[in-house]
Amino acid sequence: MPSTELQHWQAMLDRIKQNVRPQQFTTWFSNLRPFRCDSEHITIRVPNAFFKEWLEGNYKQVISRAARAVLDSAPLIEFEVDRSLSSAVDSEATVSSLAGPRTTSTRGNELRLNDSYTFDNFVVGPSNRLAHAASIAVSNNPGTVYNPLFVHGSVGLGKSHLLQAICHAAMGNGNPLTLRYLSCEAFVNDFISAIQNGWLEGFRRRYRELDILVLDDIQFLAKAERTQEEFFHTFNSLYNAQKQIILSSDCTPSELPGLQERLISRFKGGLIVRIDAPSFETRLAILQKKAAVRGLRLPPDVQEYIAQTVTSNIRELEGAIVKVIGYASLSNTVPSLELAKSALREPAGPNQMVTIDDVLRAVAERFNLRVADLQSKRRTKSVAYPRHICMHLARRLTSLSLSEIGGYFGGRDHSTVIYADKKILSGARKDPELLSTLEEIVNTLKSHG
Ligand code: ADP
Ligand code: MG
Repeated sequence: MPSTELQHWQAMLDRIKQNVRPQQFTTWFSNLRPFRCDSEHITIRVPNAFFKEWLEGNYKQVISRAARAVLDSAPLIEFEVDRSLSSAVDSEATVSSLAGPRTTSTRGNELRLNDSYTFDNFVVGPSNRLAHAASIAVSNNPGTVYNPLFVHGSVGLGKSHLLQAICHAAMGNGNPLTLRYLSCEAFVNDFISAIQNGWLEGFRRRYRELDILVLDDIQFLAKAERTQEEFFHTFNSLYNAQKQIILSSDCTPSELPGLQERLISRFKGGLIVRIDAPSFETRLAILQKKAAVRGLRLPPDVQEYIAQTVTSNIRELEGAIVKVIGYASLSNTVPSLELAKSALREPAGPNQMVTIDDVLRAVAERFNLRVADLQSKRRTKSVAYPRHICMHLARRLTSLSLSEIGGYFGGRDHSTVIYADKKILSGARKDPELLSTLEEIVNTLKSHG
């Protein structure tokens, strides 16, 4: 973004700051990234759909007023979700703990780990005890105890947190280590651009000279055959040199669709640990930790209510805290149980109480189909289209992972779900009829849920 636009945005933020309470400002405005800010258009990137709805619902006027003051116009204000802003997704990090002799300087050589994803901030319970213990062991003795370490579990259960905690701890141990943490997608992109730029040698050196390679969300390797081939060699070369490899995925190695047998058997040669959904006690403990880290106060009955209501996904647990605090800051009160109840019942925002069965039923009803048709393998358009809508809504409204969603539709894999989701999203942008169909279904779901 041009620097003049950035200055405009900064000036707008200064005004906004004068018009909202400090806590509101920190909660809602400190995590935004301006993408465009001129007299016609303001596009602001936000970390998740909840932020978007909340800002649209509560702060659009404040922002317009600031725009009028700074730009002397009434630009169109839009919010776009950019997942990379939510702390959970850090696509790439290369770090060198100490400037030891083996420390190579590579592209992106700055620390991009989430500072709060440490072992200290990780709450241990029955659902993640093994994964946690294995991670500690690996961070103390990289390359020797469990290689590779393969952590799997469904979305939002702490895989990225643990992987990054290993990185923090391994660096903190005082050994001169070179390590690289990146999402599998970033690895694939890196490989593709190395090929395009004829820089394969550099790519190989970059990865094969590491002491620790951490690849998050390895399920994305499934569709990238050439990268798999290259990864196989990277893996072998690191493994043979007793360097540590750490991987995460939303399913077990054998369940990874489209992954070569020889890679799967390499993965199985190390330690495979699963993270399960946390129990009520663990959820409560996590919630207390999160609130404490952010300096937020929640009365015990509110904590319990949230921990009871949000069950399957810790990221959504955090979303619920922010939401309740947000509500309370608007009315300038300490959150009460009543307030928490109405905040989490509020239709705007991700509603984890909607289940995939609700989605299936609502879509079947709307399109005059049977639920069984939606879940079948039939590909006729009259079924495929509503099925795509189901997948899109399941993405939007439930906390299921891509492969879990695929599983409900005749065992389709995660790429099918991504495809369907994108298709409906881009369709809705062009087609008002589809948009209103979606809104109708969502409203039915929320009024029942
Ligand atoms: P995943 O990578 O499995 O999708 P993340 O690691 O991104 O999940 O975790 C989602 C959120 O939940 C993060 O903010 C993370 O800090 C938090 N979280 C997950 N498990 C725990 C835990 N055991 N203790 C504290 N926070 C946790
Ligand atoms: Mg993750």
